[in-house]
Amino acid sequence: MGSALEIRNLHVSVEDKPILKGVNLVVKQGEIHALMGPNGSGKSTLAYTLIGHPSYRVDAGQVIFKGVDLLELKPDERSRLGLFLAFQYPVTVPGVSVANFLRTAINARRKAVDPEDKGIPIPEFRKLLKEKMALLQMDPSFAGRYLNDGFSGGEKKRAEILQLAVLKPEIAVLDETDSGLDIDALRTVAEGVQALIGPELGVLVITHYQRILNYIKPDVVHVMFQGRIVETGGSDLALELEERGYDWIRVRHQAELEEV
Ligand code: ADP
Ligand code: MG
Repeated sequence: MGSALEIRNLHVSVEDKPILKGVNLVVKQGEIHALMGPNGSGKSTLAYTLIGHPSYRVDAGQVIFKGVDLLELKPDERSRLGLFLAFQYPVTVPGVSVANFLRTAINARRKAVDPEDKGIPIPEFRKLLKEKMALLQMDPSFAGRYLNDGFSGGEKKRAEILQLAVLKPEIAVLDETDSGLDIDALRTVAEGVQALIGPELGVLVITHYQRILNYIKPDVVHVMFQGRIVETGGSDLALELEERGYDWIRVRHQAELEEV
C-alpha cells in the first residue's frame, strides 16, 4: 500500500484569528487532487501549515503521514520523510548552484532513510540530473546557476519542479495561487508536473484558477470556502467553477458556515 497524507479536522489560526476551521483531506500516492477556492479562503494557510511555518498556529486536528503526526516534526524532517512543498515565493540562496542545492537535498533525504549513507555518488547524481532536466526540457546550463538568484517567476517554478523530479517525494503540495506566471511559464510547470505524475507520486495542486488544470488533470477537486472544504467532486467541478465562478458556492454554504 502506498503512502497517504491525511489531514484530520485541522484548525489553524494566524495572529489569533481562526482561518482553517476543520479541514479534512486525504491525498494518496498516485492520486492528483486539486484544492480550489476564492481568495482568502485559507488555501495557502493550509500549505504553510503543512510545511510548519511558525506564523500558523495549529489549534486542533492532526496531519498523518507515514503513520507519523507531521505537525510534531520540524520543516526539514517533514521533507525528508517524503513530503514536498513548493512555495508561491521561493527563497533565493546566493552562492549555491541549483545542482549543489539539489545534491544536498538528495543527500539529506538519503541520510534520513539510512544514517550510514555516504551520499549519492557524483556520477550517479550527474546522470539523474541530466535525465530529469531532459525530461523537463530544461537547458543544462540551468544547473550551474545560483538558486533563484535573478530567476524569473517561470525559472523559479522550473527549479521547483526539477527539485520535485530529483527528490522523488511520495506526496507533493504545489501552491500555484497568485504566482503571477504567464501562460507559457504555467504550461512549462504544468507539463513538468504532468511528466512526473505516476503511481509513486501523489499531488495536491492548490489553485484559484482552473487554467493550470487544463494541463494537470485532477482525479479529485475540492473547494475551500471560509476555512473548510465544502465541495468535493471530479474534474468537472473545476470546469463548473471556471464557468460559474465561486458565487454559487457562497450561496450554497454561507448559512451553514455562519452557524459554526
Ligand atoms: P488563499 O490562499 O485561499 O487566498 P490565505 O490562506 O492566503 O487564502 O488567507 C486566508 C486568510 O488568512 C485571509 O483572511 C488572510 O488575510 C489571512 N492570512 C493568511 N496568512 C496571513 C498572515 N501571515 N498574516 C495575517 N493574516 C493572514
Ligand atoms: Mg493563496
